[in-house]
Amino acid sequence: MSKELLLQVAPEIAGNDILLKQQIAKLERISFSEIQHVSILKRSIDARQKAIKINLKVVVFFQGESIIERTIELPDYKDVSKAKEVIVVGAGPAGLFAALQLIELGLKPIVLERGKNVQDRRRDLKAINRDHIVNENSNYCYGEGGAGTYSDGKLYTRSKKRGDVDRILELFVAFGASPQILVEAHPHIGTNKLPKIIQSIREKIIELGGEVRFNTKVVDFLIKQNAIEGVVTQQGDKIVASNLILATGHSARDIYELLHKRGVYIEAKPFALGVRAEHPQELIDKIQYSCDFRGEFLPPAPYSIVKQVNGRGMYSFCMCPGGIIAPCATTPGEVVTNGWSPSKRDQATANSGIVVELKLEDFAPFAKFGPLAGMEFQKSIEQQAWRLAGETQKVPAQRMIDFTQSKISESIPKTS
Ligand SMILES: Cc1cc2nc3c(=O)[nH]c(=O)nc-3n(C[C@H](O)[C@H](O)[C@H](O)COP(=O)(O)OP(=O)(O)OC[C@H]3O[C@@H](n4cnc5c(N)ncnc54)[C@H](O)[C@@H]3O)c2cc1C
Repeated sequence: MSKELLLQVAPEIAGNDILLKQQIAKLERISFSEIQHVSILKRSIDARQKAIKINLKVVVFFQGESIIERTIELPDYKDVSKAKEVIVVGAGPAGLFAALQLIELGLKPIVLERGKNVQDRRRDLKAINRDHIVNENSNYCYGEGGAGTYSDGKLYTRSKKRGDVDRILELFVAFGASPQILVEAHPHIGTNKLPKIIQSIREKIIELGGEVRFNTKVVDFLIKQNAIEGVVTQQGDKIVASNLILATGHSARDIYELLHKRGVYIEAKPFALGVRAEHPQELIDKIQYSCDFRGEFLPPAPYSIVKQVNGRGMYSFCMCPGGIIAPCATTPGEVVTNGWSPSKRDQATANSGIVVELKLEDFAPFAKFGPLAGMEFQKSIEQQAWRLAGETQKVPAQRMIDFTQSKISESIPKTS
């Protein structure tokens, strides 16, 4: 009968089927030939000591028994073309997964997205990168898949308030992501793989009778007697439905302004703000793995920092090993950075957000904006960054040592 085992092995053993079988045979005191197959269920790296270990959860299949591999299938979705309609505003990760959930519940999603489909979006990214032109409806954050499409695709969280993450990972696999994301302790899809997966989700929604409308920005809500009755689009069309899911993400400031204007209760909440730090990946590998060269069996190393500084929490955020920094503004005249990496994480640089927690009192100079004070504070910082960057989508940059000493750098090394 197959047997589940937890083991800790050297990276070169974890990365080689034969060596792994040999190791298991030794541990289990059986002969190598008795083992037919080893499936890895979970993998994590323990780099706390100089000798790096890989923690594995495996299932061992012995000769003569059938190998049962995990199969992932989509839920048994039914056609919803004639079902009750629910408007979903925004086709980012939240909107697309909400649409799938609605279909599972037998409801018809009408997804309204201000941006373009995933292919047409690419042209607008080129315009940002090459010509410094930001299209307010189509950029790194807006368009099919939202900020998720060109996100790094790291699928883990430090948050304790988490739902059923495994179910989301399984849906990603069913829509084309590598099954490896079910195995790795820190699953990562990679920016190059995400657009195809997002497109498959959209195609499934439409195949099952849902609707996805691009270039459809919601500019007003139809509200009667405190109840939602539908939305108005930029083209002036009224779309009626008594249920609406607002999945417009945190970049869509105009939606918060609209909610406030229409008397929907909103409140400011604290958030974190900071810079992107970039390093040679080789340097991070050396520090994290205590070695001169990473070798072929270890992935580009990540890092994570959490510290209290002068009574404020400071932490690394969205660390991208082997990644590059992307210009993610959604409004002209502002600079915002984020990071991404391809599935192989094979770029020469690593980057991470280094952020500090802000408190509601930090927004005091913007108090006249009421619950929108934090948003106005954020806007002012992003506009200042744009001015410092010579009114382009480049980023104002400093060497880290100069940043920590509040000095302007005399030169900047080659960056991503
Ligand atoms: C470069 C980059 C890297 C990232 N890396 C990671 C990562 O590795 N891991 C991770 O967990 N997160 C990452 N993130 C963050 C992640 O992408 C977001 O948290 C996530 O996309 C939020 O999902 P959402 O659906 O709530 O909002 P969004 O993705 O912002 O989607 C909102 C959608 O609503 C649309 N919309 C807005 N207003 C309107 C309107 N009025 N009418 C119609 N449509 C509207 C927008 O066009 C957009 O498509 C990254 C983000 C970026 C930009």
